[in-house]
Amino acid sequence: PAASVPEGVTFLHDAAAVIEAVPERLGGHAVIFTGEESEEQIKSVFQMAKPRFVFLKPKSQEGVTYLGRRFFTMLRSFEVTEGIPCMLWFSYPKVAGQDEDDVVIRASADYGSLFVDGFGEGMLWNAEGFTADNLRESSFNLLQASRMRISKTEFISCPSCGRTLFNLQETTAKIQERTGHLPGVRVAIMGCIVNGPGEMADADFGYVGSGVGKVDLYVKYDCVKRAIPFAGAVDALVNLIKEHGKWVEPEEDEEVTAGEAVAVM
Ligand code: SF4
Repeated sequence: PAASVPEGVTFLHDAAAVIEAVPERLGGHAVIFTGEESEEQIKSVFQMAKPRFVFLKPKSQEGVTYLGRRFFTMLRSFEVTEGIPCMLWFSYPKVAGQDEDDVVIRASADYGSLFVDGFGEGMLWNAEGFTADNLRESSFNLLQASRMRISKTEFISCPSCGRTLFNLQETTAKIQERTGHLPGVRVAIMGCIVNGPGEMADADFGYVGSGVGKVDLYVKYDCVKRAIPFAGAVDALVNLIKEHGKWVEPEEDEEVTAGEAVAVM
């Protein structure tokens, strides 16, 4: 590197290029592993580079879950790696016939499998054809779904069936629009009281169809308001959230983004 690089800059190395002790510097070092390194290589790179953080950047996405589990299992067996964060860095080149949704599903499986196993502290990704906004939005969705970072309201809805007492999609969209800016709050929207309350997956608040044109509202598993006319039920839900101290006003310029919807049952 040029001598003019400020001392505070962190140098990034490929693990294969770390073959001797690297000089200590204020900004420290970071190392990219492919996940194919042997135990001895990993240990020796950590000893020589003393990285502040590392990346797992596989050569391809094939078998990445197996590769990741193997890599993290080795990392955890070395004392020298303790407390050093590892970011997952995956790449998705454009594939003919696949659209953005296909890539997001693939990325969710790749990152999600490792995150829910407790492997990895952060994510970087390259997805050809994605805009920066798409990547950012998909990243927050993925981090929220795997409980790595809760940045918005979480919605749980039933898949709907013959018992559903209102238009589930429209109602869910309406509730998301009003309440999508409440990080850490879980709202369940269920089509009927037959199975709805039992399937709310520990939601903080429940909106459950209880009769034709009627809705019951729940706080956790307790029904606190019964048979509210459908027309005012979303307002009543918002008031209930306020009464329980979970409401914050959306920032004036903040676009209330629809939170993540998870189907259960
Ligand atoms: S909660 Fe279950 S049974 Fe009730 S409407 Fe939804 S899918 Fe149907």
